[in-house]
Amino acid sequence: MEYGPVFGNAIKQFDVAAVKLKDVPKDLLEAAKKPKRSLIVNIPVKMDNGKIKVFTGFRVQFNDSRGPTKGGIRFHPNVSLDEVTALSFWMTVKNTVAGVPYGGGKGGIIVNPKELSEGELERLSRNYIKAIHQFVGEKIDVPAPDVYTTPQIMAWMMDEFEKIKGLHTPGVITGKPIVLGGSLGRDKATAQGGLFVLMEAIKACNITGKKIAIQGFGNAGAVMAELANNAGFKVIAVSDSKGGILNESGLDIEKLTEFKESKGSVKGFPGSKEISNEELLALECDVLVPAALESVITKENASKVKAKMILELANGPTTPEADEILNKKGIHLIPDVLANSGGVTVSYFEWVQNLYGYYWTKEEVNEKLRIKMVQAFNNLLSTKNAFKCSFRESAYIFAIKEITDAMKLKGFY
Ligand code: GLU
Repeated sequence: MEYGPVFGNAIKQFDVAAVKLKDVPKDLLEAAKKPKRSLIVNIPVKMDNGKIKVFTGFRVQFNDSRGPTKGGIRFHPNVSLDEVTALSFWMTVKNTVAGVPYGGGKGGIIVNPKELSEGELERLSRNYIKAIHQFVGEKIDVPAPDVYTTPQIMAWMMDEFEKIKGLHTPGVITGKPIVLGGSLGRDKATAQGGLFVLMEAIKACNITGKKIAIQGFGNAGAVMAELANNAGFKVIAVSDSKGGILNESGLDIEKLTEFKESKGSVKGFPGSKEISNEELLALECDVLVPAALESVITKENASKVKAKMILELANGPTTPEADEILNKKGIHLIPDVLANSGGVTVSYFEWVQNLYGYYWTKEEVNEKLRIKMVQAFNNLLSTKNAFKCSFRESAYIFAIKEITDAMKLKGFY
């Protein structure tokens, strides 16, 4: 199989760890590297001008040996089958590291949702579900939000699915609005989980400084800024797709959030200095948080990173070449599959509550999340110590072992 650049990088991460698993047969490892099912769908949508426009979408169900496939749906102009395959693979690893009973999947549509009216966005979301509904279900494949998808989009998708099937089945999708069976705490779960991990990681790695820089100010990055600030970190820089801002003595996150809401960008925030996304990555700070898209820390800029720790809230922000450079520099990297797994962990809680028909308080959700994140961190820390490797490798070693064990025990071949 030809790998595209993003999935190719994901497989390199797999291979680096797999060689250390001497007891796992090579053919089983090869089988674990292949997506089980890849769907490409063309979705016709009637636009507001009366004309039909066809959008291309994907859903990749990578591996279901540990349970139903699970992972978000991304709406972005640069979505490709290569990217969705990589993301579905990372979900497989992430769900194992997080200790939730799922395989991994991911979906995406090539679209810039900012260019669609609300009606067009609704029709596109519903028609995507019409195109893939045979392959989705609460015990089959459970989608959720990802880049540029929202609780409202999940609501339309759930409704379409329920209409097709003629039954209520809220567990088919997570990240829903609360009134439709969403979980309290899901909106902030990715960042909240990241913060729980960060607290453990700085303790384990003896990092005492509190300066943090965050790339990305969306679902994950903006909430991380808020929670980290409340937890006593000094957020010195943030950025979005239009550019970044810096204030060495710390940004006022509450005011910044209001500013971003009214102006659509963090750029131009009073009292801050303008910087580029590239400059943000090279700032002198204790913790750097990439919280936007993949492949932003590369072999070209990795040597410029001055942070002591990187917390990957985005999926796949660091290329394998950059990983090697950061490792040599002694920078502690907390990988995406652990750092951002709070989102899917609370998605799991949402699904459990939907199946159970009984709902928890926000405090219960957050406490359960904390327990899961600390457990996941400790699992990787012991694997790291046993194999004398990086956190990323320990995540892959841990996950590949569990996934191949599940495959072997099921006797799928
Ligand atoms: N899109 C999120 C992720 O990449 C959440 C997935 C989910 O909740 O299923 O982890």
